[in-house]
Amino acid sequence: MYPRETVELAKLLSGFGALDRENAEICGVSISSVRHWRRGSRRSGQGRREVARCPRCHARDLDESAYGYLLGLYLGDGHITKGRRDVYALSIKCCDAWPGLRDQTRIALSAVMPTSRVFSVARPGCTEIKSTSKHWPCLFPQHGPGRKHQRKIELEPWQEEIVSKHPGDFARGLFHSDGCRLINRVRRPVKNGDRFYEYPRYLFVNMSADIHRLCGEALDRLGVAWRFSKPTTISVARREAVARLDEFVGPKY
Ligand SMILES: [Zn+2]
Repeated sequence: MYPRETVELAKLLSGFGALDRENAEICGVSISSVRHWRRGSRRSGQGRREVARCPRCHARDLDESAYGYLLGLYLGDGHITKGRRDVYALSIKCCDAWPGLRDQTRIALSAVMPTSRVFSVARPGCTEIKSTSKHWPCLFPQHGPGRKHQRKIELEPWQEEIVSKHPGDFARGLFHSDGCRLINRVRRPVKNGDRFYEYPRYLFVNMSADIHRLCGEALDRLGVAWRFSKPTTISVARREAVARLDEFVGPKY
């Protein structure tokens, strides 16, 4: 028995057109295992499940709250790549310092695309959480060539609707990927020495003006005051604004 992650990696590589021999070498397994998994996943009724696979093509219900979160993650740290037979892999990069966020990403991916299994690939310092489907571009039409900050990022009306219904989930996805909640420490001199005050603040750092706009709109909908502290950085620092955002985001974990 090989670990599930090895099997998933081998299937992913097969999906991306790797030869069985190369695939076996990369995964450290026998060629016959790779062949078996490749044929097995083709035989396992993918054609039948196709019917209800996509909320856009097949009118399957979409978990909108999970989608709002996943859209935030995707716009921050996600990317979509095309493999063999028009199968796309959606991949969210998760820092190993925050195992809780890795779990949240897995949960969101399987809630949004329940017919696809979620698996992970270890990278230096981080883990890519992945799911493959022919329909990821239907759910993330922002997919396109080039870096996100070098192209226009605009939501489609159906996405706008979800984001305006679930601004907290969307903001949580954005802050969990490209943001942080940190503690500022300031020194105030008083009569008998210095006193230190600590206060939390949120930062969201991204290169895309379009993604800043989407983040700002979500914060406006939540009634959270924000400003640019740098051209690339949205800052939430007022006490009541931080408290309000804590209801939806909170520290990374
Ligand atoms: Zn579709």
